[in-house]
Amino acid sequence: MTRLVVALGGNAIQRAHDHGTWAESVRQMRRTVPALAELVRAGHELVVTHGNGPQVGNLLREAELGAPEVPAPPMHVLDAESEGQIGYLIAVELEAELRRRRVSRTVVALVGRTEVSPRDPAFRRPTKPVGRFYSASDARRRAREDGWVMAPDPQRGGWRRLVPSPRPRRWLEAAAVRRMLDAGLGAHLVPVVAGGGGIPVVRERSGRYRGVDAVIDKDRTAALVAYALAADTLAIVTDVPGAAIGFGSPRPTWLGAVDPATLGGYLRRGEFGEGSMAPKIEAGLAFLRRGGRRFVVTDIPSLPAALAGRAGTRVERTEPRG
Ligand code: ADP
Ligand code: MG
Repeated sequence: MTRLVVALGGNAIQRAHDHGTWAESVRQMRRTVPALAELVRAGHELVVTHGNGPQVGNLLREAELGAPEVPAPPMHVLDAESEGQIGYLIAVELEAELRRRRVSRTVVALVGRTEVSPRDPAFRRPTKPVGRFYSASDARRRAREDGWVMAPDPQRGGWRRLVPSPRPRRWLEAAAVRRMLDAGLGAHLVPVVAGGGGIPVVRERSGRYRGVDAVIDKDRTAALVAYALAADTLAIVTDVPGAAIGFGSPRPTWLGAVDPATLGGYLRRGEFGEGSMAPKIEAGLAFLRRGGRRFVVTDIPSLPAALAGRAGTRVERTEPRG
């Protein structure tokens, strides 16, 4: 069995034009799970991780709008809620799809935490807009009363809260999940881990972990998960069949098999969108540098073919000569 970490992008759960209803999420997940179930049936030891952008965005909006009547939980608690929600959805739909293929596995969704450094420069300069839009006077009040960093959104008018996006340093459940898999439990379980990049926590001097209001890039955490588990392959699944150079031009070149050095060159040249494709490529290259064998970026329909070397963007570690 080859150990495979699949990172599902936001669109595996919710499409861009969806409202985010539960029925839409179920429908979308049902399009996603056949490829995953097929990989398990084919003998891969599967670990799933996923994004949570649209889901945590909705929870935040719900919390803010409900605030006069129900106290709004902090953002790290909403992260936990979104992990529960999405993990539950993956569990129900993936198990059903596995059963159709007569494969017996329990999908175990963890509410997981990711340690970040309180000294990460991101905390001094929050950059990610989250939640609803505020008037200038309400924005000033949130800044004063809650210490929020607020910034105007020139395109949509109004003010939004900015939160930091620190680098994930340590995935807290790593050792436990690694032991589980090394003991052979991958033949019985499919772990769903570090959803939304994991709940961001910082370690206090007492050794206790404290949740912080921040967002963690799920692609960066996916790399961390993949090498913490000594996975063979990291597959980042998104809404495009692969990475392209000249993306957005009339004639993009879709990359198939590409070596790490060439891909790194394209990355430095700015071929990959910041905050979209670039973090995936960075994650893949980081995984290969830290001992991973293979990195794939593709969409759900192409995933099985990509793993068979016939679709998607595929990068393999180049063995050091000697
Ligand atoms: P996810 O939720 O899967 O992380 P993102 O929107 O963050 O999705 O990233 C996928 C998007 O990256 C694609 O929809 C595409 O618009 C964008 N993108 C930017 N640069 C490139 C590129 N060079 N090749 C392919 N896609 C790119
Ligand atoms: Mg993304």
